[in-house]
Amino acid sequence: MNHIYLDHAATAPVHADVIETMAVVMKEQFGNPSSIHSFGRSARSIVDESRSKIAKSIGAKSEEIIFTSGGTESDNLAILGVAKAYQKNGNHIITTMIEHHAVLHACKSLVKEGFEVTYLPVDEYGQISIEDFKKALRDETILVTIMYGNNEVGVVQPIKEIAMLLEDHQAKFHTDAVQAFGLMDLDVTELGVDLLSVSAHKINGPKGIGFLYVKQNTALTPLSFGGEQERKRRAGTENVASIAGFAKAVEIASIDRAEKVEQFTEFKKLLIESLQSKDITLSVNGLLENSLPHVLNLSFPGTDVESMLVNMDMEGVAVSSGSACTAGSIDPSHVLVAMFGQESERVRNSIRFSFGLYNTKEQVERSAEVTARIVSRLTR
Ligand code: PMP
Repeated sequence: MNHIYLDHAATAPVHADVIETMAVVMKEQFGNPSSIHSFGRSARSIVDESRSKIAKSIGAKSEEIIFTSGGTESDNLAILGVAKAYQKNGNHIITTMIEHHAVLHACKSLVKEGFEVTYLPVDEYGQISIEDFKKALRDETILVTIMYGNNEVGVVQPIKEIAMLLEDHQAKFHTDAVQAFGLMDLDVTELGVDLLSVSAHKINGPKGIGFLYVKQNTALTPLSFGGEQERKRRAGTENVASIAGFAKAVEIASIDRAEKVEQFTEFKKLLIESLQSKDITLSVNGLLENSLPHVLNLSFPGTDVESMLVNMDMEGVAVSSGSACTAGSIDPSHVLVAMFGQESERVRNSIRFSFGLYNTKEQVERSAEVTARIVSRLTR
């Protein structure tokens, strides 16, 4: 049986060309980019060229890109780095209730150091309100961190609008664009953000590499100390092969991007329609429009997440729980809890389907059949 992978929001298969690029670098370009000799210079030029390609993909300058170990470190560095650098100007941070844990836990750690954090609520579709944001903003706000697209339900927040509201304000604006990167337009000058987090493994690149965009003249206190790599903002020898693989993945993601977006949007519709045609009751968590193209979160009343996941895996379909409820307990910081409240059944029975490069219409149809069969069995 051929397994079907519908968990691209968790991670995506590494593209063959990315593997090839990395293999060549590992075999032939093993020098340390900080060395003066030819081996070092050769590694340095790989890092420089990759950085330049990656920077261009978001309309940034090369020197505004800091390579990190992934989305988690980028989020941590943005939040802790800005908070510490601008502490003298205020102690208030604004974020939302539906951020990735890399943001939520970083913010929580700052509370212990005297910062105050406002968590913006979301409506039943996962959207924040501009009015709530305006009310939360204070003179002493030094950082606003709001994710671009949510990994669990796909909701996209009004980043550009918020950036405009912050134009004449001292607060630095960070967005976690880990899920949006590669599929949506993320030109940083158009968006108006000061910091933006990205991870390579969501776009068919290697794991353990990402970047943080930091707008020129934004101060950032480093989290790691050592050499002078990454403009003294992140010490340590660069992961040269992964950086080269990351640049390759960015290049691949840009090919036929509009077609991919259209295809994933079609897959979402197809999955929902196929399930409905089989008389399966479902609700969509989040919105179909104003959403990440590849993420679809559905609740199936009367089912339980663990049985769904195990049964689907046994039938060859890999999906994610997408639910706040795993191992019998509810995660109070989960996006579905923020959307519906802890008591809602939808918090317990949701499944996240997320599409990627190699998925086909046939796979989506087969996944709908499998899902329908299991939902019918569990709700009988
Ligand atoms: N932010 C978001 C929105 C994510 O989806 C993820 C990955 N689940 C991360 C941050 C963390 O990225 P990484 O796995 O590269 O640390």
